[in-house]
Amino acid sequence: VMQMLKGVLSYAHYLLNETVNTGELAIDATCGNGNDTLFLCKLVGEQGKVIAFDVQEQAIHNTKKRLAEEKRDNVILIQDSHVNVENYIQPGETISGAIFNLGYLPKSDKSIITKGESTVTAIQKILNYLKEGGLIVIVVYHGHPGGTEEKNTVIEELSELEQRDVSVLRYDFINQKNNPPFLIAIQKNKR
Ligand code: SAM
Repeated sequence: VMQMLKGVLSYAHYLLNETVNTGELAIDATCGNGNDTLFLCKLVGEQGKVIAFDVQEQAIHNTKKRLAEEKRDNVILIQDSHVNVENYIQPGETISGAIFNLGYLPKSDKSIITKGESTVTAIQKILNYLKEGGLIVIVVYHGHPGGTEEKNTVIEELSELEQRDVSVLRYDFINQKNNPPFLIAIQKNKR
């Protein structure tokens, strides 16, 4: 029997796949080891572009290596906080989809984590460039120190987004133990 209830990351990818088309611009706000960067690269194709952010040199290095192995060159890798996203978008450019994977880089320094305030600011900035029907997905890991604070800030702030402008979904398995990650998906409404 088919597993209709996809895991959180798998559902995030499913939604992006429904939204992001060949030739468009997508954002990986937290590239880490590059899994989502690679996924987005495939969605936008050679004609499109991915801008991927991470604050850590190790993450940029890992992602660059991952992309080279897969012979993908339609990515701009940026070692900077996603909070400065507007510095890397050209005038007139439109973003079709974006992903945030919150928390720390697996098997690395657990003190380098995304933070609620900058995460929310980056989301708000990306919303300004998002196409109608465009999507931002946020995979919220919150089991680590600092995770609860970020989760609370993100939920509080995103709950306040105008219903007229965006639809904000929470996708959450309520019977999983040990702070399982959940998904927030924000879709910009058609006018
Ligand atoms: N999606 C990644 C993958 O496929 O491997 C995993 C991302 S990991 C959960 C979170 C990443 O966010 C870490 O690599 C961390 O360095 C990065 N990060 C933390 N604060 C950031 C910020 N302000 N801007 C951009 N990246 C940040």
